[in-house]
Amino acid sequence: MNEKIYELLDSVYKSAASAKEVAAEAAQSMRQNAANAAYAANQAGAELLANAKIRMKIAELEGQMNSMLRDLGKLLYATHTGDPTPSEVMIEKLEEIDRVNAELEILRGGIAKEPVTPVCPTCGAAACEGDGFCRECGGKL
Ligand SMILES: [Zn+2]
Repeated sequence: MNEKIYELLDSVYKSAASAKEVAAEAAQSMRQNAANAAYAANQAGAELLANAKIRMKIAELEGQMNSMLRDLGKLLYATHTGDPTPSEVMIEKLEEIDRVNAELEILRGGIAKEPVTPVCPTCGAAACEGDGFCRECGGKL
């Protein structure tokens, strides 16, 4: 390992505190957006659709996250092989990842709970609200 790697890792380590600030700011603005989106979804009475949209957005961001982490690995490896990555570039990448990560956490927390359908404790068949006995096996619900 060469000196550049240690310098780079050192500056990345020192960026940890500012990363928290970036994440907090991103979380704040995401919360606002999520609140607006949730409000709109409620207005439309389309919570399940909103959930599906949130899941799509999560999948998209996870893909973005993976490619950013891959880029980060390439930059680190380039430094190792003698083509040093400037610390600022590395930290900028890390901050981008922080923002996406914060957004992902908010989105994951923002998925509305889907209604739980009651099931028969005996056979596991779906039951209807208010049923006393299972329509499949006749077991007591
Ligand atoms: Zn049953």
